[in-house]
Amino acid sequence: MDYYYLIQNSDRTPDIAPEEVHRQECRCLKNATHSIYLGCFSSSHDAVEHARRIYPFRAELCPECCAPALTESMGA
Ligand SMILES: [Zn+2]
Repeated sequence: MDYYYLIQNSDRTPDIAPEEVHRQECRCLKNATHSIYLGCFSSSHDAVEHARRIYPFRAELCPECCAPALTESMGA
């Protein structure tokens, strides 16, 4: 299980930029001004599903810490 956070891009272009789901250790979180704790999930897929209940059509997985290949190889 990993802890996941959602970074809001409200300080950039809120109508265009998606919210991104990140693992707790992602370096993106350290630079984020707006982040929301999503919870503990067994996979990044579960985390983004949860995020999409909050931000329909907008929440995306971070390509750095939640890349599909990486997630699968870690065997959630
Ligand atoms: Zn990330």
